[in-house]
Amino acid sequence: MIKYFVIFFVLLSNANGSDLLNITFLGTGTPRPNLDKLGPSILIKANQEELLIDVGRGITLRLNQIGNNYSKINNIYLSHMHYDHIIGLADFWLTSNLWQKKTDTNIYGPKGVKKFCDGLMNSYQLDLKYRYEGNNYSKLKCINFSEISINNNKILVTPFTNDHGHVDNSYGFKILFNDKSIVYSGDTTLSKNVVNNAKGTDILIHEIIATSKKVLDNNKKLRKVFKSHTNINQIIKVLNTCKPKLTILNHALLFGVNEEYVLREIKKSYSGNVIFSKDLMSIDLGEEHNIFNIGK
Ligand SMILES: [Zn+2]
Ligand SMILES: [Zn+2]
Repeated sequence: MIKYFVIFFVLLSNANGSDLLNITFLGTGTPRPNLDKLGPSILIKANQEELLIDVGRGITLRLNQIGNNYSKINNIYLSHMHYDHIIGLADFWLTSNLWQKKTDTNIYGPKGVKKFCDGLMNSYQLDLKYRYEGNNYSKLKCINFSEISINNNKILVTPFTNDHGHVDNSYGFKILFNDKSIVYSGDTTLSKNVVNNAKGTDILIHEIIATSKKVLDNNKKLRKVFKSHTNINQIIKVLNTCKPKLTILNHALLFGVNEEYVLREIKKSYSGNVIFSKDLMSIDLGEEHNIFNIGK
């Protein structure tokens, strides 16, 4: 009952142009296909503005589940060019056109983003030719992070580099709206930039990797992957330095261990609030954090 009341309240307040900042996890997964955890993507809303952080596999399905018709999502930020964070972009773009999106969509990303967008738009030329007359469809406008000069948006998104092993252009984001702040680590191992940006933040959304000793000892490839992500000891260091009001572990690479194990280990050395993200988990950042499930 409380859940439905909260959802009703949010819909009502958004309709009235509330200045509440809301985040919804559309997908919380990794490259591994999982119906319960689609590809990484977060929808951020305030007033009439909506934006996405990353566009992983299946996000149009989640947007449909929450009744979002894409029309207000005019800015998308890509943390890096690993496919699990960008593979949903074509589907978002083409489906938003079918839904008659009127405005172009800005895609902010690291080096390589323009080439990626050009390739995407070329790849679907025939579909666009069949469906639309002339150039009459919404375009992707791809902008390299280095070219962002003015951010006119009311939600301020600032990219910062992190440390994702072999990926030379990988970013996290600091998101500010009024007096609220969210930090998204992106895919990274322990990163000074994440720590510096996340000190005292309202919400830290941080990736995590954890394995049993047996699995790690027997898997050479996994040991390599392990170095590009943040393990339990590292996240404890991050949290004890930053002390976010709420930490949400996301993009969890768990091998031979489960979420309960990870939380138990973290809580031995850190007493703050830590939870795991779930698809369609939504949070209002007001005087306190209201966490609820939307769309199910
Ligand atoms: Zn990833
Ligand atoms: Zn990655």
